[in-house]
Amino acid sequence: MECPKCKTANADTAQFCTRCHATLLYKCPSCRATQRHGGKCDKCGIDFAKFAAMMVAQEEARAAREHEKVREHASAWKQVFLLPITGGYSLMKFLFHRGE
Ligand SMILES: [Zn+2]
Ligand SMILES: [Zn+2]
Repeated sequence: MECPKCKTANADTAQFCTRCHATLLYKCPSCRATQRHGGKCDKCGIDFAKFAAMMVAQEEARAAREHEKVREHASAWKQVFLLPITGGYSLMKFLFHRGE
C-alpha cells in the first residue's frame, strides 16, 4: 500500500503511514467496515465527518443535560437543607411579633 501523500510503501494492513502518519485505512464508526478512502462509508453510506460531528453534538447535549440534572439536584438539596432554618426563622419572627 503506497501512501497517497508521501508515496512511502506501507504494509497493506497498516492503518496509518509509517512516515507521515496519513490515514491509510479508514474504519467506519457505525458499521466497523474498513476502506482505503475517507468521506463516505462504502457499506452503510454514512458520512464520516458528519457522523463525527453528530457524535460530538450528541455528547455535548448529553453533557449539558447531565449538568442541568446535577444543578437541579443541588438546588433541591439546598431547599431541603434550608427548610428548617428558614422555617425556624419564620417561627421565631412570628413569636417575636406576637410578644410585642
Ligand atoms: Zn505517508
Ligand atoms: Zn459503515
